[in-house]
Amino acid sequence: PFSDGARSGHHPGVRSAYEHVVRRNPDEPEFQQAVLEVLDSLSPALSRHSEYADQRILERLCEPERQVIFRVPWRDDQGNVHVNRGFRVEFNSALGPYKGGLRFHPSVNLGVIKFLGFEQIFKNALTGMSIGGGKGGSDFDPKGRSDNEIERFCQSFMTELHRHLGEHTDVPAGDIGVGGREIGYLFGQYRRLANRWEAGVITGKGLEWGGSRVRTEATGYGNVLFTQRMLERSGRSLDGRRVVVSGSGNVAIYSVEKAQQLGATVVACSDSGGYVVDEKGIDLDLLKQIKEVERARISEYAERRGDARYVEGGNVWDVPCDVALPSATQNELDAASARTLVRNGVLAVAEGANMPTTPEAVQVLREAGVLFAPGKAANAGGVATSVLEMRQNARRTSWSFEHAEAELAEVMTGIHDRCEEAAERYGAPGDYVLGANVAGFERVAGAMLAQGL
Ligand code: GLU
Repeated sequence: PFSDGARSGHHPGVRSAYEHVVRRNPDEPEFQQAVLEVLDSLSPALSRHSEYADQRILERLCEPERQVIFRVPWRDDQGNVHVNRGFRVEFNSALGPYKGGLRFHPSVNLGVIKFLGFEQIFKNALTGMSIGGGKGGSDFDPKGRSDNEIERFCQSFMTELHRHLGEHTDVPAGDIGVGGREIGYLFGQYRRLANRWEAGVITGKGLEWGGSRVRTEATGYGNVLFTQRMLERSGRSLDGRRVVVSGSGNVAIYSVEKAQQLGATVVACSDSGGYVVDEKGIDLDLLKQIKEVERARISEYAERRGDARYVEGGNVWDVPCDVALPSATQNELDAASARTLVRNGVLAVAEGANMPTTPEAVQVLREAGVLFAPGKAANAGGVATSVLEMRQNARRTSWSFEHAEAELAEVMTGIHDRCEEAAERYGAPGDYVLGANVAGFERVAGAMLAQGL
């Protein structure tokens, strides 16, 4: 299953670690995929440093430190009782408290949370900050639920989760289906149960009660800043480029905003029902109104904007572009879509979502010489700004938008340059996949070795 990139053959430690993961986690395809994607890059590092294999670092990394699975019972507005399943996978704490979002979506299961938690370890390491990796969520479907139902669900979820959290232990945040409203209900319930006003226990809070400016924008902004730096390194820029963004949630919206600020024209975005094309450039205020205020479908956008076209059930990657920013969900960009993008002359693809590009699609893009920014580097701006929020909480202070944004820009530059440096050190200049995996791995592995078993 390894890519041709590792044609020369893999270090035996890499092969045995992967076989071990497949054997122990047979029904978790997303987790296996995420592990394989990282291991595929690590053979040269294992060959250079024998202690990684001697100390079984890969097997240790692939086994979560702790996994919590719990019942989440709640009552809907009609009085019916529902039972969902809650998860928190505390994957690795060598670099700091477990840190990672909560996802509420019907597709959530243990394997999905493990893939996200695994990815989070390396992403968080790449930021250079003191955070370990974790992830959680529920198979709860928030679609069509009233505000009261969301409140009751969040309270029930936190009634169990709270005992596992703490600002020095495990610090959740949002992800798909969990935004500012949900973080409010979750934090409220934590505060009541713990009898502690512990701001640093969760991030993505409202600005009046411990939140950070730019946290909402951070993932999308960060991905575009990363893309800009990547393009600059090859003598290009975002200015005047045609951009396609998939999704229309938090990451997508703020990718559109930052890309427009940097002079690009964003011509399309999507949701699970279809996509809209707006050749004049997406009207950001209208997009925000529909998605953030009304929580409606993207088809609404075309209804209200004369120039735009809605393609129901269509594939957004059919829209020609210079830069593609997959910002919806895992495995949303497959090999056929990658070939379409290449045929249409795409220059760069940067992952705003977690693992949106299938391994086959990554292969197609890399073979065609397309610049490719993996999510664990490019979308790390969200979690990095969560740490900026924790810093402000610890000092009981609150930064201006300008200050927070400047800090985010510096972090993104640091991540980019760490990837670039590691890729060069391993003889693969410009290979951001290898650079991100190796640089993230080296930092976590070093801490694990130093801290012993
Ligand atoms: N869910 C985001 C991610 O995938 C943010 C996590 C956080 O801020 O802790 O990185």
